Amino acid sequence: MDQGLISVDKWGQPSQAYFLTHLHADHTQGLSRRWKKGPLFCSPITRKLFPATFPGFDLSLLRVLEIGSTSSIRLVSETSRKEILVEVTTIDANHCPGAVMYLFQGEFGSFLFTGDFRWDAESQRGQQGKDVLMNALNGRKLDFLYIDNTYCNPSFCFPPRAIAAKQVVDIIASHPLHDIIISISNLGKEDLLVHVAHALNIKIWVWPERLQTMHLLGYGDIFTKDTGLTRVRAVPRYNCTIDTLVTLNTVKGPTIGIIPSGLPWGICSKNKQKQGQRICIDKSQLADNSSSARMLHQYLYCISYSDHSCFNEIQELITILRPTRMRGIVSSSFCYVNPVRYFGQLCGTNQNNDPSSSTSTSEVKDVEVRQADSFSGWDVFHRETETSATAANLSYRSVKRRRVSQLRRERSGAKIAYTDDDN
Ligand SMILES: [Zn+2]
Repeated sequence: MDQGLISVDKWGQPSQAYFLTHLHADHTQGLSRRWKKGPLFCSPITRKLFPATFPGFDLSLLRVLEIGSTSSIRLVSETSRKEILVEVTTIDANHCPGAVMYLFQGEFGSFLFTGDFRWDAESQRGQQGKDVLMNALNGRKLDFLYIDNTYCNPSFCFPPRAIAAKQVVDIIASHPLHDIIISISNLGKEDLLVHVAHALNIKIWVWPERLQTMHLLGYGDIFTKDTGLTRVRAVPRYNCTIDTLVTLNTVKGPTIGIIPSGLPWGICSKNKQKQGQRICIDKSQLADNSSSARMLHQYLYCISYSDHSCFNEIQELITILRPTRMRGIVSSSFCYVNPVRYFGQLCGTNQNNDPSSSTSTSEVKDVEVRQADSFSGWDVFHRETETSATAANLSYRSVKRRRVSQLRRERSGAKIAYTDDDN
């Protein structure tokens, strides 16, 4: 496809049409209320959430694409100046509210951008998305796949969300006298909370800005900001720490925390006296589906509930599509692996010869999430053997630390921006 025609989740470069997959911050970097480079295509739910995310944005720039629909867009080639007809199909990404994949087809070939997605083709919603995608392709070869590679490593293996959601319900039901806190981010995991509310016939507390989002999504009756109405609270992720839980159990009464996440958390005992108790990867739990609900600490559980595809689901999609070329869209993730590393043999050509894909390949050596003394959030970093990687990791730790600090400052004020993705 010609340069300068289409941008997906990229906002700085000149383009004739811009496409937003969803509103998580790592996909909107460069967007602001002053942005006005061109028409911005998105799903109906993203359109609904957009004004609260970017107050003051020129909403006349937004173009809504219905999920499951195929639309034609006329653009002009930057090189030949000829008109190019682009057919774009919008597919439910099964990730967070409003998240979609985009399939672009035309004389230039076919390109699929998954954005963040959960494949989960066994579910009704996942099956519908698969049907839309396969019908739109109609047997045509996929030339390029840009895929969510957040968990593109065989170590990341977790069950369908329906199973994980039941585990959350079972844990809450088995603690009838406890207060419960569930860690969530600014967008995502709504289906889990709704399932918990319906299964237990309860309301769930959320913070005021999150309640506004729930109202926009049509879930207003289920959620409340009145702590007297429920014992279950959904809290920002950086508030669900061991320190917080210990304090709550000491001051307020019995409380447990639940982390819904695709990462297999454990308690790291290293430097325990110096650093306090930390949450880290427990390697013994990797690739173990049977332990998708685990007690990390006497007050804390981890459930393998993720809005991203696990390794097997990534493999399933690539096996079905067998794209000629592909590239992971998550290049700065703490668990980044180029999908070509594992699935290059499924591509129509030997993409391993493509320097743009092979040079960025890296492998997860270790992943650790630390609860440091200086703040109550989560600090995510690699623990690799290479010296150069260590320098990069330290840099990433600093960025993460600043981001958490920023979140805490904003949380004490009036607004929390969409600054984090749900893993
Ligand atoms: Zn996301």
